[in-house]
Amino acid sequence: MSGQVTIVMYHYIRELTHSRYPEIKGLEIHKFKEQLAYILKYYHIITASELLAAVDSAGDLPRNAALLTFDDGYVDHYTNVFPIIEKHKIQGCFFPPPAAIMKHKVLDVNKIHFILAAIKDKSSIIKKIFSMMDELRAGYSLRSNADYYAEFAVANRFDPAPVAFIKRLLQTELPECVRSMIIDDLFSSFVTSDEQAFSQELYMSVDQLQCLQRHGMYIGSHGYNHYWLDHLDGEKQEEEINSSLEFLKILGGDVNKWIMCYPYGVYNESLLDLLKRKGCQVGLTTRVDLARLDLDNPLTLPRLDTNDLPKKGDARPNDWTLQAAAAS
Ligand SMILES: [Zn+2]
Repeated sequence: MSGQVTIVMYHYIRELTHSRYPEIKGLEIHKFKEQLAYILKYYHIITASELLAAVDSAGDLPRNAALLTFDDGYVDHYTNVFPIIEKHKIQGCFFPPPAAIMKHKVLDVNKIHFILAAIKDKSSIIKKIFSMMDELRAGYSLRSNADYYAEFAVANRFDPAPVAFIKRLLQTELPECVRSMIIDDLFSSFVTSDEQAFSQELYMSVDQLQCLQRHGMYIGSHGYNHYWLDHLDGEKQEEEINSSLEFLKILGGDVNKWIMCYPYGVYNESLLDLLKRKGCQVGLTTRVDLARLDLDNPLTLPRLDTNDLPKKGDARPNDWTLQAAAAS
C-alpha cells in the first residue's frame, strides 16, 4: 500500500495524420492504445472513488497507482477512448465544460487550437491579429504590438515561440472583449462560421456523458464556462462551481464528494476555501509531478501529461515510472 498516485492527463485523442486538422495537438488513437498497454504493464489503474477514499484516510492506494483523466469533454473521449477502456474494464475520469455542451458554444481555448491548426503559416495569423489590434488600440489602451511580442513570444515545453505568443495573447493578455472579438473573427474567417454545428461535432452530448456515467466512468467538475478561475472574484467563482455541480446532477453524478479539475490548472486561496465548503475532496492541476497524498494538498494534486509517458507498449520504464515504483 502507498499514498502515491500517477495521474495522467489527456486532451484530444483522435486520428490526426489523415484528418482535416493534422496539426491539432493530440494523441493518435493507436498511440493511446500503446500507452495504455504500457500503463497496464507498470501501473495499477485506480478509480475516482478509490482516490477519494484514500484522500479520506490519507493513504492506502495500491502500489504504482495510476488515474486516467480526460479534460474538456471532446467527443474523442466517447468515440475513441470509451470503447478501449471499457474493454479493459478500467475507469476513466472525464471533465467536460458544461457551457460548451449545453449551449453549443466552442470554448475560446478550442477556437484558438483550430485557428492554429487551420493555418500553416503562423506569422500570417500574427499579422492579422496585429492589424485588428491596431484598430482597437486607442479604444482599449493596448500597448504596442512589438511590446507584446517582446514579452510573450517565448517557447515553452509544448509550443514554439510564435504559437506560444498567439495562445498567450488570446488566452490571457489582451482585455477580455478584445480577445473574444479577435478570436471570433479569426475563427469565422479561418475555421467555420457555424459555431453551433462545430461545437456539436467537437464535444460530447449530454446523452453520451450519461452513457459514460452509466458504464461506470467518473465525471467531475471542470467549472462551467472553462474560465481562468483565479481571475474571478469569490461571487463569480461560486456561480461557476454551483452551475458545474448542477450539470453533474443532470448526469447523475455525486455532488457531495467530488473531484475538481481546474481549467488551465489555475486556482487561488478563495477558490480552495469555496471548494472545501462545497464537498470537493480532490483538485487536479497541471503541475507536472507524481501525486503524494501524504505530502500534497489533495485540492492541488499534480498530473503528468500524456507526453511524459512512453507511447509504446513495450517501452522500458521511463524516469516517471521508475520514480513511481521507488516511491511505492
Ligand atoms: Zn480544460
